[in-house]
Amino acid sequence: MKTEFSLAQLADPHVAESEKILRNCVHCGFCTATCPTYVLLGDELDSPRGRIYLIKDMLENQRPASAEVVKHIDRCLSCLACMTTCPSGVHYMHLVDHGRAYIEHTYRRPLMDRLLRAALAFMLPHPERFRLGLSLARWFKPLAAFLPKGDGRVQGTPSLLSRMRAMLALAPSQTAVSDLRKGDVHPAQGPRKGRVILMLGCAQEVLAPRINRAAIAFLTRHGIEVTLARHEECCGALVHHMGREEAALAAARANIDAWLGEADAGLDAILITASGCGTHVKDYGFMLRNDAFYAEKAARVSALARDISEYLCTLDLPARTHHEPLRVAYHSACSMQHGQKILRQPKDLLSKFGFVVNDIPEAHLCCGSARTYNILQPDIAVRLRDRKVANIASVEPDVIATGNIGCLVQISGGTTIPVVHTIELLDWATGGHRPEYV
Ligand code: SF4
Ligand code: SF4
Repeated sequence: MKTEFSLAQLADPHVAESEKILRNCVHCGFCTATCPTYVLLGDELDSPRGRIYLIKDMLENQRPASAEVVKHIDRCLSCLACMTTCPSGVHYMHLVDHGRAYIEHTYRRPLMDRLLRAALAFMLPHPERFRLGLSLARWFKPLAAFLPKGDGRVQGTPSLLSRMRAMLALAPSQTAVSDLRKGDVHPAQGPRKGRVILMLGCAQEVLAPRINRAAIAFLTRHGIEVTLARHEECCGALVHHMGREEAALAAARANIDAWLGEADAGLDAILITASGCGTHVKDYGFMLRNDAFYAEKAARVSALARDISEYLCTLDLPARTHHEPLRVAYHSACSMQHGQKILRQPKDLLSKFGFVVNDIPEAHLCCGSARTYNILQPDIAVRLRDRKVANIASVEPDVIATGNIGCLVQISGGTTIPVVHTIELLDWATGGHRPEYV
């Protein structure tokens, strides 16, 4: 794609990076076929190619974001299916991240939109606040049925009431309290074969603390010592995807200090059980590339970051099964398959431990979760969820496994088939607890 940025504009490293990305795009449009919003809405401006044009136009002309541009960029799930499809290697993720930060600086959103986004950014990255928010939501959950659903035609910005309805509907009727504590070390059982930091995360520890508990049980059972870093925070992905760049960078710096502070005793990996967070942590090196103090440390952390399935595939694990051969539909989160290009490992592990793994049709399409997307864009999110659930039901599984808490909550909202994290099944197969509901 031909670009016309001035030398003065290119002096800004963010613009220079985006220009490089834009130049790689040859307008072929292959990406439109796998873009969930284009597949649903059929509007070129809701396709990757259309959004690339909108961002180029906005940046090149140093134009403040318009309501129209914001509408189409907001509808992007950042699922990154377009990056998997693109034959020219266009790094859409970094381009849309720049676009969102530019929008945040140049566009004043309607008051209710601003308030809702501020509330989500205040609450979700902090487990105590999120837990409190969920307790309140449980009181009001019965009201969800009386709130408007949205018109389903997805014409403009969804109304506050339809977003409130989505938020209440997503709130689980009960949550367990995590007994995991930052700063704790979980020793290996038997001779120590490795040492990892396990990232606890924020929302997952409130919504499903059983996942990290299963991860620790599995790892320690197989000789891996697990440290929970004392000063770890939310990875910053939630605010990053709202364009709040400074908050995202502050979270990244805090985590880099927290994790590298625990790395002296030797460290095999920083393990992450939510692939949305994993994709983000693996990008710390890029995000902080221009920070003289943090660039090298950030690159080191990104190089150490692993999805738990990636790490488990490097261990010499004895194949074992002592349960009935359940049929598992494996849902690969977008952040897993498109963001981190982890395709085979979770399925290989499930098969190795005696589960019968089924691929699902249209596996490349997002389930509609996408961090806060299912709250901010409820109409599109529900349509994508229902399509995903129908595809999963077509393979008649006993259980659905996934590696991302957002997908787990989103898909659970549309089906009665139990949805669990892959590590819960692996833990069960090797002597741990049977996952609830399975
Ligand atoms: S990230 Fe996903 S929703 Fe956004 S343009 Fe790419 S394919 Fe479409
Ligand atoms: S597939 Fe890649 S090169 Fe083709 S239009 Fe999409 S982003 Fe551009």
